[in-house]
Amino acid sequence: MPEVQSYRFADALASYGDARYVILGVPFDNTTSYRPGTRLGPRAIREVTYNFEPYVPAFDLDMDEVPVHDLGDLDVPVVPEAMVAQVEEAVGELLRDGKFPLLLGGEHTLTIGAVRAVRPDWYVVLDAHLDLRAEYRGTRFNHGCTNRIVYEETTQQIAIIGARSGDREQYRFARDLLFFSADEVRRLGIHEVLDEVVAAIGPGSVYLSIDADAIDCCLTPGLGTPEPFGLTHYDVRSVVERLAPLSIGFDYVEVCPIDHGQTAAVAAEVVRLFVAAHWASHGRRA
Ligand code: MN
Ligand code: MN
Repeated sequence: MPEVQSYRFADALASYGDARYVILGVPFDNTTSYRPGTRLGPRAIREVTYNFEPYVPAFDLDMDEVPVHDLGDLDVPVVPEAMVAQVEEAVGELLRDGKFPLLLGGEHTLTIGAVRAVRPDWYVVLDAHLDLRAEYRGTRFNHGCTNRIVYEETTQQIAIIGARSGDREQYRFARDLLFFSADEVRRLGIHEVLDEVVAAIGPGSVYLSIDADAIDCCLTPGLGTPEPFGLTHYDVRSVVERLAPLSIGFDYVEVCPIDHGQTAAVAAEVVRLFVAAHWASHGRRA
């Protein structure tokens, strides 16, 4: 048989059994409040991975030698609670099989299910929005409520980096959390922010969630809820390189591929760097 194109994440060549990392797409955007289309995020991220070389010079490793498997996308239900339960079940199964879950969104709501299954000590999230609403548009299971539900269900040890949007009540709520606004990141520099975050985490485990709109929409405009005056893709890269070694679960959500591919390209490269950074600090040694 001649070689066939799989449309899975490029260089994710390991079988499920051999894989240490497993990619799973969650093409769900039913609670989108502004511009729809993040359901097309996982396929846009996968597609652009074929643009990249397997070799990752920053970590001196080849992605096709890292044991990564791409399961494809979940067949998501319409109701958000059901999607969250489905993600929880799927991620729970990956963890029982000893796999590291890497989720591609889809809207931020999926993170609720993933964090439920992973049960980290710390939840670190990059986002333009606080996502701390108690309820939004008639449901708690909405992308605007993700961080609030994580707080109520799983862990109150939450670090939010890059936010610049939320109502007064959410800003009041954020005072109880470790919160660095996009302006603070710009003023302090991302490395100083990360020093503080890493010191707070200590020996704890981390679930890292990246909402694509954490990055300034002038840089990566493929977003469902675009916000200017945000982080840069360099900031996000620094976060991933620093926190991946501490992480036990990861997602990259809210890519809405209506741009020229910039947003998906950044997402794909950040996912690769996350895996490379984690593998360089754990797997390769083992
Ligand atoms: Mn979000
Ligand atoms: Mn957001």
